[in-house]
Amino acid sequence: MNAFRFPPWWRGVAGHLDAVRMRPDVQTFTDAIVGFWSLLFPTECAVCGRLLISLCPECLSAIRQATVRPVRVERGAPALPPALGELESSTGLGDPLPVTAGGHYRSALARLVLAYKNHHRTDVGRPLQAALAGALHSAVEGLRQGGETAVILLVPVPAKGVSLRRRGYDPLGLLLDGLVRRGELPADCLPARLVGHRGVTGRLASALAGRGGPQHQKGLGSAQRRANVRFTMSLRRGRRVIPGAVCLVVDDVLTTGATIAEVTRVLRLAGAEVTGAVVVAATEPPSRAE
Ligand SMILES: [Zn+2]
Repeated sequence: MNAFRFPPWWRGVAGHLDAVRMRPDVQTFTDAIVGFWSLLFPTECAVCGRLLISLCPECLSAIRQATVRPVRVERGAPALPPALGELESSTGLGDPLPVTAGGHYRSALARLVLAYKNHHRTDVGRPLQAALAGALHSAVEGLRQGGETAVILLVPVPAKGVSLRRRGYDPLGLLLDGLVRRGELPADCLPARLVGHRGVTGRLASALAGRGGPQHQKGLGSAQRRANVRFTMSLRRGRRVIPGAVCLVVDDVLTTGATIAEVTRVLRLAGAEVTGAVVVAATEPPSRAE
């Protein structure tokens, strides 16, 4: 590929522009413009902090590498429910619910997720959407190969009212919305939250309600987290889930699996068939973490 070459006369023009650009009055003016621009648009890389770009090419490439191949992560999350509803018990029998992640929650991917979730960097959601899409396609393909032919409902973990008010946006909902708009969901999958009030999926969507949010989970051990999340959700009064509806629970970050367990519990109690979960990224068990 030939590199683009500037024409010979450009050197003179560029020199002149440089001279203009370096004038103190012009500097003040451009600083003001940049300042104003940064008010309107994020101007540093969400991962490494490089200025004037929302995600630099190096970090974007690191994110792509970290999410190029979805991974199965259920072995690292001790609070996940059993794979099959009828085995639901605390005896630890049976395999855990299968969980597919876009990548491991570490390095660049962890910083990007944090920036997106907690620092209002909704402008960098696109690579996270891609990671979630990859994980969704992988999980659904697995189910189809296992003979599942039904429409699969994608049930996002509901945003807690407290978090919504604090952040002002629903990070997971935005990711799913984006995938719907771009037509990037796997075939025959419906995002439950997004269908509105028509039919089963709409009911299912609005059915999950947090019951006065549990305390913040940061810093809690896995047993505490489990206790903290258990029984915090319920079906809203008057809502139903069609028995046998095939569901995948969707969340942004998998840590212990307690939140996914709680959503699964409510859905199964209502007669849905929860066959797995999909997350953007999964933390690693302490022993394997870097
Ligand atoms: Zn960067």
